[in-house]
Amino acid sequence: MLGLALLGGGLVLGRAIYAENVTLGQLTALLQLEERQDRLQRQLRLGVGEVTRMAEQGGAVPESKWRSVGIALMKFHRGNAHLTPRLSVPADLQGPVAAQRAAEAEFATLSLRLLQGARNAPETIPSQMPAFLAALRTLETSRSAVRRILIERIDAELTRSASGLASNLNRALIGAIAVLVVVLLCMAWLRRRVIRPIVAIADGVRRLSRGEDAAVDLPGAGRGDELGDLARGIAAYRSAVEERRRAEQHIEFLAHHDMLTGLPNRVLFEERLAQELLRAPRTGERVAVFAIDLDDFKSINDRFGHAGGDEALRAAAQLLSACVRASDMVARLGGDEFAIVQVSSDQPTHAELLVQRILRACEATAGDTVPVQMSIGVALSGVEQEGEELYNLADMAMYRAKAEGRHTARFFDDQFKEEVRLRWRLSRDLEGAAERGELYLAFQPIADADTLQVVGQEALLRWAHPELGEIKPDQFIPLAEASGRIDTIGLWMADQAMAAASRWPDHITLALNLSAIQFRQPALAHELLALARRHRLAPTRLEFEVTESATLLDKRRQPVLTVLRTLQHHGAAIVMDDFGTGYSSLGNLRDFRFDKLKVDRSFVATMLDHAPSGSIVRSIAALGASLGIPIVAEGVEEAAQLARLREWGIPQVQGFLIGRPSREAVHCADPAAKLSARTIAPQWVARS
Ligand code: C2E
Ligand code: CA
Ligand code: CA
Repeated sequence: MLGLALLGGGLVLGRAIYAENVTLGQLTALLQLEERQDRLQRQLRLGVGEVTRMAEQGGAVPESKWRSVGIALMKFHRGNAHLTPRLSVPADLQGPVAAQRAAEAEFATLSLRLLQGARNAPETIPSQMPAFLAALRTLETSRSAVRRILIERIDAELTRSASGLASNLNRALIGAIAVLVVVLLCMAWLRRRVIRPIVAIADGVRRLSRGEDAAVDLPGAGRGDELGDLARGIAAYRSAVEERRRAEQHIEFLAHHDMLTGLPNRVLFEERLAQELLRAPRTGERVAVFAIDLDDFKSINDRFGHAGGDEALRAAAQLLSACVRASDMVARLGGDEFAIVQVSSDQPTHAELLVQRILRACEATAGDTVPVQMSIGVALSGVEQEGEELYNLADMAMYRAKAEGRHTARFFDDQFKEEVRLRWRLSRDLEGAAERGELYLAFQPIADADTLQVVGQEALLRWAHPELGEIKPDQFIPLAEASGRIDTIGLWMADQAMAAASRWPDHITLALNLSAIQFRQPALAHELLALARRHRLAPTRLEFEVTESATLLDKRRQPVLTVLRTLQHHGAAIVMDDFGTGYSSLGNLRDFRFDKLKVDRSFVATMLDHAPSGSIVRSIAALGASLGIPIVAEGVEEAAQLARLREWGIPQVQGFLIGRPSREAVHCADPAAKLSARTIAPQWVARS
């Protein structure tokens, strides 16, 4: 378009200049013609003057003179006759030019007549001369008139052409400016309608690619043209990307948060803990890790169902979140386990304050339908401590808090550290202890309460540590469970115990304690039955003691019951050990038919001085009687206890009064117990 405009402007200008030039050219050509004719006329006049003078004076005129004057006359005449019509004469000049042509023609005619006279009759010259001179004067007058007009016209034309050129140049300039304005307007339009929207779209796309929030509207999306299409396409792409990003964020959230409480999960907790442990040494702060476990969560679940359990977990999450500062992190690690990461330059003060806040907040829920109670373990970061290690210390402290009576807190301190070190050592030393002959068995008799006749022996594991001396099973069995060594140790001890029992009288049963961990082996029942077969021991002589909390409340309840049922099916008796210390004893009695219940020794120990313990033992006795399940009371140390147990109808007893655990099974009751026996039955002793 721009090119076309320029071309048009150039053409107009060129044509104007060309038109000026044509007129000027015509005038100039006319003037040149006049000059030429004037020159020819002068030659002719001189020639005519010379021959007439020579002829008048009577001298002979040379032939060459006649010829040259003839040629001059011919040229003049031809110039007038031929050239004039070829030139287009401007209208206003046509009159004077025509007059001049006529004058020239007249002059030529008279010149010819004069020359003929001079040649043939020189005497006629004087009579013809005046007419010739008059024609010459007329001719010169008309010529000078034409020339004057021509010069004026040329002059005027030149002036007009100069001003025309100027005005044409002006026009060209104005045209160029107009073109420039149009170009600028086009550019402005382009900028507003095309470039700016494209730049904005490109900016939006860039922000999109950088992952910034590109919620701003893309310009031009409402337009119907290609740019609108582009903007809409990019908007659609953007919303698809945003949707994907939202989905990714959601997945990211799900991956790092617990759905029930909305708290960060274990993954996020571990990441944060690792970060804080890296950062803390630089800032001079210390990281406190809290391991928190809800108290009695299992019984909450049993009493209120899963909805109640979820409610308790949500309440605990809210309670903890309300107690911490914004910079602390509360996480749910799974089940009823929570954790807190607290970073502070004033430790352990801040950790202690937080513990107090949490315990107070728990107390405030006492009146709620589902009260929240927690046990808390706290560990503070040391030099170059790993997150996992620190959490494990807090967890140990938490278990200690639980063991110390729940709804309390324990810090992992120096004394604790010593205990842990010892535990690590024992755990390490337990490896191969059986092979080195450090483990051995003790047998403790179980007797009929009335006759005090020994009816069975419970095998109890012992460890004679080469440096630390006798280690209590309460101390090392949890270590064997934690390291998984309980499987081999359990089978080793069952093998040993059955080997001993195979030498006992047939009516003496063997009671073996089974740990919860052992039930993870699906083949446990078959392995135990195979051992019994190998030692030619009838399964009916075997009793397996399991604690209800450890086995029946576990998540893997079904496999446990399968093992127990298999053993029971082959004639072995299943005894619930430590009965009364669990939380849903009666429920378990409904789900599995135990062959015997063993009242926990803590009740027996206090039953005479502590009324509630007494009534528990008594109601267990009544329960056994009504369900037809035999009851055995363990931990009987005093004759008075035995007397009361007999009174309440407890059929079997076990304890120091009847016999202490010993390396060799003693199949008769202790003499002290014998004294209090009601019926003196024939006693016998057998040494294994
Ligand atoms: P438990 O099964 O309840 O075993 C009875 C514990 O009470 C034994 O402690 C025994 O020595 C003790 N005891 C017996 N009579 C009396 C008494 O009159 N007064 C008092 N104060 N204590 C009495 P021990 O041998 O230290 O065993 C502790 C626990 O270790 C056992 O409790 C049992 O849970 C576990 N345990 C022992 N041996 C084994 C085993 O071979 N396998 C498994 N899984 N656990 C075992
Ligand atoms: Ca036991
Ligand atoms: Ca027990």
